Amino acid sequence: MAARTHTALPGDGDPALADFAGHAPGTRRWCFADQLGPHFLDAPGQPVLLVEARSVFRRRRFHRQKAHLLLSALRHRAAELGDQALFLQTDTYAEALDQVTEPLSVCAPTTWPARDFVLRRPGVTVLEARGFVTRQADFRRWAEARSRPRLLMDDFYRAARRVHDVLMDGAEPAGGTWNLDHDNREPPPADGRVDAPAPWWPVEDEIDEQVRADLDRWVADGDVAFVGDDGPRLFPVTHAETQERLAGFLDHRLRAFGPHEDAMLAGDPWLAHSMLSASLNLGLVDPAEVVHRAEQAWRDSVAAGDPLPLNSVEGFVRQVMGWRDWIWHLYWQLGRDYRHGNALAAHEEVPGWLAELESDAVEANCLAHVLADVRERGWVHHIPRLMVLGNYALQRGIEPLAMTDWFHRVFVDGYDWVMVANVVGMSQHADGGVLATKPYAAGGAYIDRMSDYCGGCRYDPKKRLGDDACPFTAGYWAFLERNRERLAGNQRMRQPLSGLGRLRDLDAVVDQEVRRGTTAP
Ligand code: SF4
Repeated sequence: MAARTHTALPGDGDPALADFAGHAPGTRRWCFADQLGPHFLDAPGQPVLLVEARSVFRRRRFHRQKAHLLLSALRHRAAELGDQALFLQTDTYAEALDQVTEPLSVCAPTTWPARDFVLRRPGVTVLEARGFVTRQADFRRWAEARSRPRLLMDDFYRAARRVHDVLMDGAEPAGGTWNLDHDNREPPPADGRVDAPAPWWPVEDEIDEQVRADLDRWVADGDVAFVGDDGPRLFPVTHAETQERLAGFLDHRLRAFGPHEDAMLAGDPWLAHSMLSASLNLGLVDPAEVVHRAEQAWRDSVAAGDPLPLNSVEGFVRQVMGWRDWIWHLYWQLGRDYRHGNALAAHEEVPGWLAELESDAVEANCLAHVLADVRERGWVHHIPRLMVLGNYALQRGIEPLAMTDWFHRVFVDGYDWVMVANVVGMSQHADGGVLATKPYAAGGAYIDRMSDYCGGCRYDPKKRLGDDACPFTAGYWAFLERNRERLAGNQRMRQPLSGLGRLRDLDAVVDQEVRRGTTAP
């Protein structure tokens, strides 16, 4: 494949379909701040360009710890590479590129606007994207070859397992089954703790100190504003730190990961999760390496006669090469306009208490805890995101695009490609069912079963009417009633919708929830 220096967009002008160059010998590799691992270079000594563009932080009000993580990772990479890297601190990317005269190459960036930018920039060779297990071109071929009208994650995941030979015994999945998710939905342990030691934590250094001082100064200058607390850095910023966290997870936490991966505990936000999403999304480690190491850990444990539970290993592998890759490929496959979907006509604004992460304003124990966790750390695992925060926004009819932006800004691992399909499709059902066959709406009973939040709450998960009516339980019925006609054609919603007919107090519940609106519950 011939390398090209783009003056016009290839792939019919669509960066999702661009036929990117395979190689670009003799070029300086421009690495974006989410392309920081060794796998973004062709050779260890390749010259590198790193750009810290302050305007990125002016455009959006990010979580303070997310800004810290991004800057710290970029500056650590610059320090690690020394003279090998040209590190430019400018206001915009264009300003930095104007200072560079030598030919550049860049791995296709992770957002539509960034791809447009690099493809239009003369003298920049754009290579295919890295940082995912399945190549974009391979995904496109797989999607085009589907006979089914609907693309399913499970089909993709099986194909990817086969092609990349992960957890396979010959042509069959290891253990004889592809998906062990049914073993991974246990409620939290009764004693309130998972059987796993604490995760590996990074230690801040002088680069973090400088980042903190710079962010303080930018805020004091009125140049940027953040949301969320400052705090000790909890996530890796280098390849080496990521290796520490990965090793700690594989050696000590993977065993306990699976069964309680959907559970929520007020006193333990991490449970046995890997907490590698921020590192993967900063590009600090190759996800193919991560899944192969997880598989090797399992095979070694089997050989040693003390096997890691396959449901834990398979569940982790599915998160990384299944869900993460799937969401990435859908970002391009579904096109630029997908983000504007609003199939349930949800037009409420993000309320101030949610935007500002004001957990003290909230009495609903689950929401208050999750919001406090986000404010304190910029991270909670996938179930609080989907079934507490996303569930609340879905029930209350908050605008999906505004929620996508909110999730992107306040989570340390949030990027545009991560959040568009996850929020618009999965969490808010705003695509009308392209990504998920039914809305992820649930009442307080789900949260009660999967967490220890309800015991200490002033609301009762069983009540839908009255002062102590659970906002999730009442909100669930109000959501169904509001969307009764829109969801009527969905086979999977027949049973929940038929439940509406049995509620004698439905009108009163709906009135109550309309009055509550998006006031902090
Ligand atoms: Fe959340 Fe309702 Fe349980 Fe309170 S009772 S913690 S609001 S689910």
